[in-house]
Amino acid sequence: MIIVNKKVVLITGASRGIGRSIAIEFAKNNYNIIINYLNSHEAAKNLKEEIEKKYQVECLTIKADISKEEEVEKMIKKVIDKFSKVDVLVNNAGIAIDTIFMDKTIDNFKKILDTNLIGTFIVCKHIAKYLNDNSSIINISSTNGIDTNYPYSMDYDASKAGVINLTKNLAIELAPHTRVNSVAPGWVETDMSKTLDNSFLKNETNKILLNRFAKPEEIAKVVYFLASDSASYINGTVIRVDGGKK
Ligand code: NAP
Repeated sequence: MIIVNKKVVLITGASRGIGRSIAIEFAKNNYNIIINYLNSHEAAKNLKEEIEKKYQVECLTIKADISKEEEVEKMIKKVIDKFSKVDVLVNNAGIAIDTIFMDKTIDNFKKILDTNLIGTFIVCKHIAKYLNDNSSIINISSTNGIDTNYPYSMDYDASKAGVINLTKNLAIELAPHTRVNSVAPGWVETDMSKTLDNSFLKNETNKILLNRFAKPEEIAKVVYFLASDSASYINGTVIRVDGGKK
């Protein structure tokens, strides 16, 4: 069944972590949801079931590697075949491969840029012509793309700085019908931050005024706000969500 009267959001990397919470937040607000994922098939399927059970919305799961143009084109065709339009795109999918400088490889550096930066560009490029008037794109960057504190993630940080720059150019390119903004989270409790060692985590927590990492839902609420009419005059900017820095 096609439900055309609801707004439609496509969230990349929505099987886990922040993307998962963003999907739930938009479902709560009566959006039909497209959950993009790469490897976590079961998690994506379970999330679709959970959302459709709790909320009166439709959910579509699509496996696609956002760094591969042909997979993105196929994904967007499936989205348009089903919903005919997109109101909100959240470019959330991202990876990090932290190592000391001398262990960094060109292949891994490129892989991070291909996913976090080029992937964001590819999805925007192929979805642009289907975006409604009064639509919105939110690109998930990171405070690492603004501050420069972590040499072991210099590849990730460069990709996230690029995402902020891309956001500003896209806001110019897609005005006035599409607002394009970026959210820069600080540390968030997800799989991405789980693997870090305890003393590092403690040290990082001590630098945050609120003395804790964000919950994914706290990022999701800001993303939803940016997509909503409450943010109708916010465009081409980046919002930090990091608990405040000491
Ligand atoms: P996460 O828990 O590791 O989840 C990453 C998500 O991205 C997964 O759903 C994964 O899908 C998807 N993904 C990865 N590569 C993909 C690709 N090539 N194509 C499609 N999907 C892909 O990460 P997270 O912590 O929620 O992070 C979400 C975003 O927030 C990222 O952009 C990250 O850089 C940013 N961020 C995170 C933090 C933090 O502290 N966690 C802080 C600042 C910014 P599968 O599982 O299906 O493979």
